[in-house]
Amino acid sequence: MKTKWGSCNPEKGTIWLNLELARKDIAAVDYVILHEIAHFVSPRHDTTFIAVLNHLMPNWRQIRADLNAAPLTD
Ligand SMILES: [Zn+2]
Repeated sequence: MKTKWGSCNPEKGTIWLNLELARKDIAAVDYVILHEIAHFVSPRHDTTFIAVLNHLMPNWRQIRADLNAAPLTD
């Protein structure tokens, strides 16, 4: 799974993060890490995946919207 902010390899248990995240709000960093960890539970953005996000970070949709609304480099 790969996005502009992060990617993961559940088989190897590894996560990569875009270093541009270091310039973002800490909540955005938490969201991207959580997103990638949730892919260890489900590889797809399915109901199981969404349930993990909803459980651990109820406001994840707002955080994602704020992150994606910002340019990649300010
Ligand atoms: Zn994803």
